[in-house]
Amino acid sequence: MTSMHLPADAPARRARPQVTVSIEAFFVRHRHRLPWVHAAMFAAFVLLLLVPPLTPLPGEQDGALDSYRLFANTVLWGVWFPLVLLSAIVTGRSWCGLLCPMGAASEWANAHGLKWAIPAWVKWPGTPIVSFVVVTIWAQTIGARDHVESSAILFGGVMALAIAVGFAFGRAKRAWCRHMCPIGLLLGVYARLGAVDFRPKRPAPGGDRWTEATACPTMIDLKRKTESRHCIECFRCVNPRAGGGLALALRRPGAEIEQIGRRNAGLAEVLFLFLGAGIALGGFLWLVLDSYQDFRLWAATTAIRNGFLWIGESGPSWLMAVFPAEREVFRWVDFLTITAYMAGVMLLTASALSATTALAAFLSGRLGGHGTFRRRFVELGYQAAPVAMVSLLLGLGGELFGTLALVGLSPDAIRALKVLLFAGGVVWSLHLGRRILAAQGVPGLRAWPPLSAGSFGAVLLGAAWYRAILFT
Ligand code: SF4
Ligand code: SF4
Repeated sequence: MTSMHLPADAPARRARPQVTVSIEAFFVRHRHRLPWVHAAMFAAFVLLLLVPPLTPLPGEQDGALDSYRLFANTVLWGVWFPLVLLSAIVTGRSWCGLLCPMGAASEWANAHGLKWAIPAWVKWPGTPIVSFVVVTIWAQTIGARDHVESSAILFGGVMALAIAVGFAFGRAKRAWCRHMCPIGLLLGVYARLGAVDFRPKRPAPGGDRWTEATACPTMIDLKRKTESRHCIECFRCVNPRAGGGLALALRRPGAEIEQIGRRNAGLAEVLFLFLGAGIALGGFLWLVLDSYQDFRLWAATTAIRNGFLWIGESGPSWLMAVFPAEREVFRWVDFLTITAYMAGVMLLTASALSATTALAAFLSGRLGGHGTFRRRFVELGYQAAPVAMVSLLLGLGGELFGTLALVGLSPDAIRALKVLLFAGGVVWSLHLGRRILAAQGVPGLRAWPPLSAGSFGAVLLGAAWYRAILFT
């Protein structure tokens, strides 16, 4: 029997497959080389983000192989971003621990910094959600996916913030990576779907806890670890020869969410799943729907009629796209309406998903489901994870499909791939919902009413995405 069948809190050493032992041994043996990997990634960061704005604009007919600007943009948004997102399903937050130059720079700054106590506003569970929403909207208003200058501002700004937070707060830790990073939140929540886990060899009861008295850079109380969200897979807690610490375990993707009742489920994460799917949808819909153009026109006319003439002027280039040479200049009316439209779609989506999940939690309770309504709601909220991930891939990682077209995939094949991805997400969400309901004490046919209510949310999301799936 493989370790994936072990209960969440079982010692990881029992019956570990050879492949797991070998992977663990490899990373422990080469752990000391990680600073070199981070330095190489920092150089790649400079080459892909800071050098392109210094190169000439591409010609009208240029492709990714003719212009360094276009090449860097394709690598960043068409390869790196979608692949990092997808990697969470396979290897959890391996990007964070093994490759990310931002987290490494933040930790380096921390070692030389002020080491102030981490303030409550940083530790607030809503902080990374706000950070994700702000960065996602900001990326749209500055046109980060179309302009290399904007990508440099976006990632350079986030890198500067990561270093500043690392310099100011915590002791030999990554306060930024645990509490504030928008990418870390994204990868962390989806790492729960992933096939990689680090489990205590001698688990202590009591559930997950945050502590600074630990060797873990993301402040996990190692013996009490049950969730994958904050583990950046740095291997620092792993020593194959020691009886304590953590050990690598491979598991069936989705296994952690199936047992979410015992894996430190959190309302903030569920809200992030709903809001994240909504903001990705908003980021796509404002570009394609006439309703956004109508809203923009209405906002501009109303503002001008009331004397707010500045709404027609353009603002600073760190806040909105101002590229006259490329014939794209956003004005305050664009900045304000894009922000409002995306926020509106996000809130509508989150409300719809909350309503269907609340109905599922209510029905689960009526059919004998354990626990309070809030607990059932939070647990059932995680069934949206696969479908929310596909939403993020279509909305924020959509350039991947452009890259697939560049390497020769036909439009029909790309459309089929999108349909397959969304259908796969819905089926996986249904499967997770069924397992979560069974764990709540609502197995078999009795689970159908709450399962149908929960899956209605996925159907609504699919209906909202149909244009992206079928027509782009
Ligand atoms: S949390 Fe953010 S900054 Fe930290 S390692 Fe992950 S992606 Fe990089
Ligand atoms: S739990 Fe271990 S592998 Fe995971 S982040 Fe903490 S020290 Fe690194």
